[in-house]
Amino acid sequence: MSKTVAFIGLGNMGGGMAANLVKAGFEVNAFDLMEANLKAAADAGCTPVDCAKKAVEGVDYVVSMLPNGPIVESVYIDGDQLLQFIPKTALVLDCSTVAPANSRRVGAQAEKLGVQFVDAPVSGGVAAAAAGTLAFMVGGSEANFERAEPVLQAMGANIFRAGDVGAGQVAKICNNMLLAIHMSGTAEALQLGIDNGLDPKVLSEIMLKSSGCNWSLEKYNPVPGVMEGVPASNGYQGGFMVDLMLKDLSLAMEASVGSKSSIPMGTAARNLFNLHKNSGDSDKGMQDFSSIQQLYSKPE
Ligand code: NAD
Repeated sequence: MSKTVAFIGLGNMGGGMAANLVKAGFEVNAFDLMEANLKAAADAGCTPVDCAKKAVEGVDYVVSMLPNGPIVESVYIDGDQLLQFIPKTALVLDCSTVAPANSRRVGAQAEKLGVQFVDAPVSGGVAAAAAGTLAFMVGGSEANFERAEPVLQAMGANIFRAGDVGAGQVAKICNNMLLAIHMSGTAEALQLGIDNGLDPKVLSEIMLKSSGCNWSLEKYNPVPGVMEGVPASNGYQGGFMVDLMLKDLSLAMEASVGSKSSIPMGTAARNLFNLHKNSGDSDKGMQDFSSIQQLYSKPE
């Protein structure tokens, strides 16, 4: 008999993830506050329901992909109090990017009620969510990690256990802080080359085979026209928004305060992305994060 999943939060990421669960043979009860997202989920083969409590009735798994920590806590604990209604036999997987403290609070409350919980934030954007190639960073017990694997395999290509509840979020924060640092560093180096007469394509080729090689340069070149099929060559549309990067950098700052860690490069990156968001007339927050290149480039 096929396993059932309640999927809460069918936005840019959750929509594709729920569709992949259906493709893998899960029966999916879908809930979102937005009618249009419920309709898209129904078109993808999910069963749309009109409240979260109904979605979790009798399910084997609950997966959530929500905007932020306060909303996750509100859905599971303070507002909808969903944890009270989830079957004790079910496993909850929260895939949203939130503070480790949010995951630990939901995890502790779940444990009190006898419900199993893991945090499982993702790396990879909307395209990876649709293609089922996300990377999952899981925080939870080894037993719950094993239980989560079949669900995560239907939505992702790489699945890691980072440690206990909250550890998935810590891994995600560290990864995205480093991503922000090497993207802004890559933009800075490319602009220095351009300003000193180099063709950014040639400079990119050189650095790709030299010690400056990194993921941003290899997969996501921020200078328009250097690489096909990346947001920089599409007016910085699509991809991973500046606002989402700022959210993740704020989570990194928050974590560093709690652990008394020094993150001078992460702090600089957060300031750079903030400066970029607030520069110019248009809302840069909605652009792909590789548009940080514009902060360095000179007006023509
Ligand atoms: P989104 O805003 O497109 O989707 C969130 C969905 O949650 C929306 O459809 C919204 O209606 C729904 N929602 C909000 N409150 C709800 C509630 N109380 N009950 C039910 N549904 C509710 O956001 P997204 O881009 O899909 O991102 C989701 C999560 O994934 C975020 O935590 C984000 O940081 C993370 N993430 C996003 C990306 C990306 O590239 N978009 C990449 C990695 C991780």
